[in-house]
This record gives sequence, structure tokens and C-alpha cells, in this order.
Amino acid sequence: MTISPESLATIRRAAEQAHPRETGGLIIGYRIGSTVVVAHAVEVPDEAATSHAYTRREGPAQDALNLARARLGAPMGYVGDWHSHPASASPSRMDKSALRRTALQFKLPIGQVVIAHTENGYTGLFGTVAWGRQRNRLEEVPVVRASTEPLVPVTEEGGTTDD
Ligand SMILES: [Zn+2]
Repeated sequence: MTISPESLATIRRAAEQAHPRETGGLIIGYRIGSTVVVAHAVEVPDEAATSHAYTRREGPAQDALNLARARLGAPMGYVGDWHSHPASASPSRMDKSALRRTALQFKLPIGQVVIAHTENGYTGLFGTVAWGRQRNRLEEVPVVRASTEPLVPVTEEGGTTDD
């Protein structure tokens, strides 16, 4: 999984502000083969979040996605979710089963980013990618910070693609 510096900063800032409660949201971008590229991240606050639970609110999540897509343009789309762990904990079994459930609704791979609090702040990063319909597969993957900004998919001709 590749993540833009701006997305990582958004996720980290939101996690810090919500601390010691969890927060989360959407990751938006595209795929290159089976690699999920996170170009943008948005927070979808959950008023009922606790130190160990965050629930994505579907209405606000859809609104946030529509807004981001309008701003970013095609072919950016939903590629998964992120949430924070105020304790230094890796993705839970519930996190993984939620990801599997989400991935079942999509043909392309869906990613999950968990940012975990460590003794150095929110520096723990866990990436998981799941394939739904085609292969019932789940893989833990490194979250690689992209060296350039912005992350934009290009066609072979060099221009950005239309939807
Ligand atoms: Zn979790």
C-alpha cells in the first residue's frame, strides 16, 4: 500500500485530536495492479467512539466520499478505511473481519490502515488488503509513504484518465 504524505498527515492529526478515543474515516485513491494507492484521506467522526471502538457512520461517510470525489475528480474513488488505535495495538480480529466484509462488495482490492499510538505518538502503521469476490484473501502489507505529492494516476499518454 502506498500513501501520500498529505493523507498520512490527515490521519495522524485526526488521531491525535481524538485521543484517547478512536477515530477513523475513508481512504480515497486508486489501484495499480493489486497495490492500493491512498491519495487522500478523510475523517468521518463517530460521536460514540470509545478508546477501543470506532464505527463508520454510513450517511456522513457517503457525503464525505462524494465531496472528496467531486474535488479530486475521476478516477479517484473509495479504496478502503482507516481508524486509530489509542493503544499500541495491531489490527484486531474484528478489524480484519470488517475488512473482509467490506471487500466482498468490491471486485478490486480494499485496504485498511490502522494508525496506532506508541511511546512516540501515532507512529505505528498497519496496512491490510483484502480481496473479496474474486479471491477470499487477506494480506498484511507495508504502508509505504510516497515521496511525491500529489499522487495522481496517469494514462500511458501521460494525461489523467477520465472515468
Ligand atoms: Zn481497530
